[in-house]
Amino acid sequence: SLSDRLTATFKNLKGKGRLSEADIDGTAREIRRALLDADVAVPVVRQFIAKIKARALGAEVSEALNPGQQVVKIVNEELVGILGGKTRELAFAKQPPTIIMLAGLQGAGKTTLAGKLAYRLKNQGHTPLLVACDLQRPNAVNQLQVGGQRAGVPVYAPHPGVSSEAEVATGDPVAVARDGVAQARQALHDVVIIDTAGRLGVDEELMRQASDIRTAVGAHEVLFVIDAMIGQDAVATAQAFDEGVDFTGVVLSKLDGDARGGAALSVASVTGKPVMYASTGEGLKDFEVFHPDRMARRILDMGDVLSLIEQAEASWDKGEAAKMAKKFADQEDFTLEDFLAQMQQLKKMGSMKKLLGMMPGAQGMRKELEQFDDSSLGRIEAIIYSMTPHERAAPKIINGSRRARIAKGSGVHVSEINQLLERFGQAQKMMKRMASGGGMPAGMPGMG
Ligand code: GDP
Ligand code: MG
Repeated sequence: SLSDRLTATFKNLKGKGRLSEADIDGTAREIRRALLDADVAVPVVRQFIAKIKARALGAEVSEALNPGQQVVKIVNEELVGILGGKTRELAFAKQPPTIIMLAGLQGAGKTTLAGKLAYRLKNQGHTPLLVACDLQRPNAVNQLQVGGQRAGVPVYAPHPGVSSEAEVATGDPVAVARDGVAQARQALHDVVIIDTAGRLGVDEELMRQASDIRTAVGAHEVLFVIDAMIGQDAVATAQAFDEGVDFTGVVLSKLDGDARGGAALSVASVTGKPVMYASTGEGLKDFEVFHPDRMARRILDMGDVLSLIEQAEASWDKGEAAKMAKKFADQEDFTLEDFLAQMQQLKKMGSMKKLLGMMPGAQGMRKELEQFDDSSLGRIEAIIYSMTPHERAAPKIINGSRRARIAKGSGVHVSEINQLLERFGQAQKMMKRMASGGGMPAGMPGMG
């Protein structure tokens, strides 16, 4: 896997301390391969790699990361940046109804999305109306009606309740859109979701129709729905829709499949429009707000490496280390609160046991982590939270009767309280030793 290859690259780079062009080239080659594997469009990959190289060459050398990790970090930041930085939710109109129009190729997932979006908005307290403007395919209106029914959201169709195939086929989608919005105004719906027709390929008539609908209703949001599996065609399709209807946001559909989602990067790079939602199945609930950081991980396919990088940086947090060092220098006591915070941090790291070997000074934690699971943290928390603030700050006062009370309050046996306090005592000793030794073990501040 890419992770393994990069791990190997990192090993070779370890200890060099500076970002050289050769270091960057090696990592860039792996990244390039990962992006192409994820079906990011070739020109987008080329441009992206050039940008990464330029930035990496100018980058300050990090103390926490080795050069390979540093390049990966830059790659991740750039990916997240292109994918939208933060997530954007729908912008609601000051004057309702907010008009949302869906556009995209046939089969992209527009009609399915219409139902999901309606369902989500309804659950958020909105009163959406779905409008069926795909009069191209005989079954399209019916499909939206079924989706609306499942979502419990009304559907405006050319001839409500009738919609015979003949009527639908001769209908004018622009007129239907206009009538649908008028209907929404009258019935005080605060959101209108307009489903439109698509073609198998981009074509002028389709684009004109979509653009006419957009203008006729004054859509506030135009969501371009694109199948995550589209692969290299993503760029041309996105560009055509961007020019044709000037969409405001992107929805990536079928992310439940094998696609690693390179299309998201392609579309976002060439249009600069935010990816807002991800569709992940055929059910009403298979739909989520798009998370650029998660997508970056999926595209790079190296969540493990990225976790490691984050952890390495977090544990290098100098502010925190300095605070701890000062605390010990001041002879302040290490409290049960500190102990709990340590345990919680340890738990966070538990998920990356196998990566610990890559971190300096982490070998010693392996045993501790192996004995550590969710339930043990839960019990430690229960015990410590059952203590009074005074007991947490001055554990020495926890005598037999206090132990009995805490055991009862946290639902554990007194022997577990004893064990915890013993463990705490050991940690306290270690912290004191570290304080007198003048600091924390490298890379592991606060870790016993
Ligand atoms: P439209 O032509 O753009 O309206 O696309 P549809 O909404 O009709 O979807 C086309 C096909 O893809 C249908 O069979 C949907 O059930 C399916 N589909 C849509 N979205 C998703 C998704 O997120 N995941 C999966 N697995 N299938 C989807
Ligand atoms: Mg459809």
